[in-house]
Amino acid sequence: MSLIRIQNYINGEWLDPIDGQYLDDFEPATGQVYATIPNSNEKDLDLAVKAAQQAFPSWSNTPAEQKAKILNKLADLIEQNQDELAEAEARDNGKPITLAKNVDIYRAAANIRFFAQACTQFSSESHAMENTAINYTLRQPLGVVACISPWNLPLYLFTWKIAPALATGNCVIAKPSEVTPMTAYLLSKLCSQAGLPRGVLNILHGTGPSIGAPLTEHPDIKAVSFTGGSNTGTLIKQATAKQHKKLSLELGGKNPTVVFADCDFDRTVKEVARSAFANQGQICLCGSRILIEESIYDRFATALRNEVEQLIIGDPLEETTQFGALVSKPHMDKVLSYIELAKREGGTLLTGGEQLKIKGRCADGYFVQPTIISGLNNQCRANQEEIFGPVCTLQSFTNEKEALQLANDSEYGLACSIWSQDISRCHRLAQQIETGIVWINCWLLRDLRTPFGGMKASGSGREGGLEAMRFFTEPKNVCVQFKH
Ligand code: NAD
Repeated sequence: MSLIRIQNYINGEWLDPIDGQYLDDFEPATGQVYATIPNSNEKDLDLAVKAAQQAFPSWSNTPAEQKAKILNKLADLIEQNQDELAEAEARDNGKPITLAKNVDIYRAAANIRFFAQACTQFSSESHAMENTAINYTLRQPLGVVACISPWNLPLYLFTWKIAPALATGNCVIAKPSEVTPMTAYLLSKLCSQAGLPRGVLNILHGTGPSIGAPLTEHPDIKAVSFTGGSNTGTLIKQATAKQHKKLSLELGGKNPTVVFADCDFDRTVKEVARSAFANQGQICLCGSRILIEESIYDRFATALRNEVEQLIIGDPLEETTQFGALVSKPHMDKVLSYIELAKREGGTLLTGGEQLKIKGRCADGYFVQPTIISGLNNQCRANQEEIFGPVCTLQSFTNEKEALQLANDSEYGLACSIWSQDISRCHRLAQQIETGIVWINCWLLRDLRTPFGGMKASGSGREGGLEAMRFFTEPKNVCVQFKH
């Protein structure tokens, strides 16, 4: 089979990288290279920045209704091509095709539609000074902005950034992860069909050092919206500090799941299993530290293990598969090394712990069993560092105070879920938990209007709804004094 050749999308055209450097794109379920992608650099970036600057005056002055029309058309095209996009996502990332269709691709279209509507409804503040003056706030687009996304929810997180950036009138240079470039490439074809003017969105492919870092450092890029690891977030903060760029950083997590004895037991077991192992545990919001009230610990651990052992693991392209491959060999090796570390730290495997060999097409794929580990205290590395794979740990607590202390004992602060029928307790804990997102008796239930993001090492700034519209605009106060 010949390799697919991915190209950059600059000024409405598909271009090879100027220096002719390419990277391999692997299919994680088979371990085979199936595409090549540009490893772009500063030269490609300069072209893209020029194209975006040229497009900016016209795009920023395009009426909201017209921008919304183009974005809605793009969402329509994503929906019309959902089968092809879902297959591409499953092949590129290793995730089950059903998940790709129902979550990734469905939500990619929803993100774009949401911000298409948002730009027709966006308004800003006015502050009257009694009998003296009126202030009004202009919210103007920033110019050319960078959107950098990770590999775990490739098209979903890519659109979550570019949609508000475009809806507010910015021109965008976007960089998908070099590990999962395919659906961003396919999206570039749809942008053209949707009638997005040339240069409004430019998509550059390549590694962090080769194109990500130059993108954040470029003096004509006014803001960076980044989702990825906390260490990369620190690098971006340092690299942009002198230029005082606007930054939105959505980073890693080590999310607690807090299960009380009075939870709705059967439903909680199912949802906690999903929250730990959806997308092979490769969602920043996955609950990887499961804290269980002591009185139900043994029963819950057994039920959770039984639930997880029923997952259908296999070829991501099969409709029935519930659990696919990890995204890459280096990532699989990292996850396996954390399982070994957890064992050395005194952990006991309740289930899983091994690389999984699958027969047939996927014999060389990067599969790891869903793994549950008990017997570790919260201070050990397996409970403090982000593994970002199909590994969760179980710990017990005796009361609400201890649950809260364990939940907050982390450098991260992204998300948390609480499972209890005592709603007063849930509200009490929600106020004290140090995470940007708290789910009560649910997980991953998303309303796109709500603020999305984390505190502590999980990032700064928020995405979603008005937060994203405000991030991608510059507020300017205009004060007008009356004459009397
Ligand atoms: P990563 O930080 O390695 O890479 C993310 C993106 O940044 C990629 O496109 C990469 O090429 C680019 N990049 C790498 N170095 C760069 C640099 N110096 N300057 C600019 N760009 C650079 O992260 P990853 O491994 O792709 O993704 C996994 C991480 O993402 C996990 O930590 C996960 O928790 C996090 N994540 C967070 C959220 C959230 O909303 N908070 C969502 C999804 C994933």
